[in-house]
Amino acid sequence: MSDISEKQTIHNYYNVALELVMKCGPIAFEGYEKAEADFQTKSAFYDLVTIYDKKVEDLLIEGLQKAFPETKFIGEENTAEDKSEPVLTDAPTWIIDPIDGTTNFIRRFPNWCISVGLAIRKELVVGIVYLPVVNEMYSAWKGHGAYLNGQPISVSKCTNINSAVVGTEMSLIQRPAVRDKHVKRLCKLASNCSGCRSIGSAAVTLCYVARGSLDCFAVEDLQPWDIAGGALIIREAGGLVCHSKGGEFSILKPDCIAAATPELAKDMIELINEADQLTEFTF
Ligand code: MG
Ligand code: MG
Repeated sequence: MSDISEKQTIHNYYNVALELVMKCGPIAFEGYEKAEADFQTKSAFYDLVTIYDKKVEDLLIEGLQKAFPETKFIGEENTAEDKSEPVLTDAPTWIIDPIDGTTNFIRRFPNWCISVGLAIRKELVVGIVYLPVVNEMYSAWKGHGAYLNGQPISVSKCTNINSAVVGTEMSLIQRPAVRDKHVKRLCKLASNCSGCRSIGSAAVTLCYVARGSLDCFAVEDLQPWDIAGGALIIREAGGLVCHSKGGEFSILKPDCIAAATPELAKDMIELINEADQLTEFTF
């Protein structure tokens, strides 16, 4: 495919996905407005799902499959249902989290979103994250900047961890296998930054970095659908997303740092390394 036709193809993917995600907003919002959405647990007591997660994912897959039969899918709820491991090939693949932040959704905190990413040849080229409660549509396609409701956004200019407000995901401490690592990292980062926020949705947190409300975010042990949409939005907003130890991160195992500037990413990597070497909790 020539560069020009690939560009047109990606733009078309972006436009169709944007419209579909927007249409799914009111459907998810209907569930949010109910005092307490019906929910069930999935893999663990803290892993919740509602009928709206499934409904939104089915609608997105159905719409995208109809428009683009050549594309593949990695969707959170379908993966959970099949008990399959996500596979990413070179084919155009939509990576979907129908509701990121389901606990927020159930508890009526506004910080949840619909997140859609598209990877082609294992590279993220489209990112769409929509927060229906506040009507914030974050979007990007490769090489064309990042937008909030159609207006360009950019990351902050922060270059020093001491003046940074850092996003974290406190709930990872729930998981016994990775608890120590996350407690150490959380304490290390919180002790060295200007502020720490745990929002309860990785995709929303990534967008807050993209628009400059947060300066950076460190996250491990999440899933491709939590990160795929937001990662491209940060890159297109002028920030960077890399592996927690430096270098490129893996879409399938997104252990990563998102940062407004390379200097900040370097500070984060250093602090994470220091935290991982701690044998006692002496901060
Ligand atoms: Mg989800
Ligand atoms: Mg999620």
